[in-house]
Amino acid sequence: MSSDILAAIAAVLGDGRVVTGDAVASHDFPWDTHDTCRARAIVYPRSTAEVSRMLALCNERSQSVVPFGGTTGLVQGCATTPDDIALSLQHMSRVEEVDPDEQTMTAEAGVTMLEAQDAAARAGLYFPVDIGARSNCMLGGIVSTNAGGTKVIRYGMTRDSVLGLEAVLADGTVLSSMNRYLKNNSGFDLKQLFIGSEGVLGVVTRVVFRLHARRLTHNVALLACADFPSVVATLATAQRHLPGSLTGFEVMWNRFYERVVAPQGRLDAPLSPGQPLYVLLEAMGNYPAHDDDRFAAILETLFSEGAVTDGVVAKSDREREALWAIRHEVEPVIEHSHNFDVSLRRADAGDYVAALDAALAGIPGTEAVAFGHLGDNNLHVCVQMRDKAPVRVRAVEQAVYETLGPYAGAISAEHGIGLEKRPYLALSRSPAEIELMRRLKRMLDPNNILNPGKVVDLAAEN
Ligand SMILES: Cc1cc2nc3c(=O)[nH]c(=O)nc-3n(C[C@H](O)[C@H](O)[C@H](O)COP(=O)(O)OP(=O)(O)OC[C@H]3O[C@@H](n4cnc5c(N)ncnc54)[C@H](O)[C@@H]3O)c2cc1C
Repeated sequence: MSSDILAAIAAVLGDGRVVTGDAVASHDFPWDTHDTCRARAIVYPRSTAEVSRMLALCNERSQSVVPFGGTTGLVQGCATTPDDIALSLQHMSRVEEVDPDEQTMTAEAGVTMLEAQDAAARAGLYFPVDIGARSNCMLGGIVSTNAGGTKVIRYGMTRDSVLGLEAVLADGTVLSSMNRYLKNNSGFDLKQLFIGSEGVLGVVTRVVFRLHARRLTHNVALLACADFPSVVATLATAQRHLPGSLTGFEVMWNRFYERVVAPQGRLDAPLSPGQPLYVLLEAMGNYPAHDDDRFAAILETLFSEGAVTDGVVAKSDREREALWAIRHEVEPVIEHSHNFDVSLRRADAGDYVAALDAALAGIPGTEAVAFGHLGDNNLHVCVQMRDKAPVRVRAVEQAVYETLGPYAGAISAEHGIGLEKRPYLALSRSPAEIELMRRLKRMLDPNNILNPGKVVDLAAEN
């Protein structure tokens, strides 16, 4: 392939906007989510018009393009080959408007989640999506993966907060669906095509997000439970007694907790290690006169009913952050592990983890560490394995997914499919669903230039 395409793109984008060689290989993947970037170039457009002109050029020459947001995705969605051009949205990083009356934010795709959260907070509002990678992940990336996170139980997935967006199709067509209204049933809701489709149908360049009133009270507790039915009972009680204000319900098996707190981990242990299960419970409300007392009363109920055996309640912002830091301290857990992100009925999660332990007992040198957003039916299972020989990785994947089958679980709760989970898509989607995905891909990207091979592979049967 000639370098003409790079020269043509450079002519559109201007000096310094097309980088090659060492500048590509040294692309920083935060959290080590990918190996070295192997693309032939990374390009940095500054506007939707530039993305459009660049894609039109690539489409004419069947040049493959891999969209890059913060590159924190966990399923190899930003993996590149030496033939690809990576399209980074990093320089489209403007929060265009926060409208306090309509409670909306309009922003470019390269704004980080943290910047969006801060911009909303400055206007006295709340940005409703939050994940551990907030400093790096970008609005275009979270829309394209339909990110979940720790507030889904209250505010839903990213999809539930996107009112409108702008996307550029493979041939350069700009599809501006920048709806700002809660209601708009004027024909097909085309923005949904681009939410969660991982950059294979279009490049998201701008988004309108729905914001919410900032909450005035904030309660966080770390609790210990003796067994999994007690965790489920705790969740049921919290949902019943904290309607509208339950904003987080995270579970951590002791293998997770012990890896992240002292003496094994680097964080202080507010509750003693060695208890079977830990729960992070969070409520945010608007009634300072009542909310703290109500939260305390619910904890008392949980203790008196025996659902909870130990607990600590944060008394300050610093203590709240310290409790959340335990749940967000995933690095020692995801290091040297193969990571899974499944969904299933909450009540089945305990049995599933036990069944997986039994299945992994047949694969020496592996151990499952489980935690996750139980309130959203979502478990993260990190299978520790220093030896990642392909045959062992496949055996572990089979153990995780075969064990999931009887529970009718889904292979991806929130991380998406990317390259990594594509071989297993048929476990969660019917042949008719996969065929429709392929037809949509062919229709919107007939030359298969946008993130080829991710989610569905037009070049081969899935
Ligand atoms: C520590 C840590 C914690 C995490 N916690 C969570 C969590 O709680 N919940 C969760 O859902 N995920 C989580 N993730 C995964 C990841 O952060 C999310 O998937 C996030 O939404 C990715 O955003 P990004 O900007 O980094 O996207 P990238 O990683 O850059 O891209 C992800 C996919 O979207 C495509 N893409 C990116 N930008 C665009 C665009 N503008 N237009 C079209 N396609 C695009 C890419 O090609 C790729 O396929 C976590 C990751 C880490 C490292």
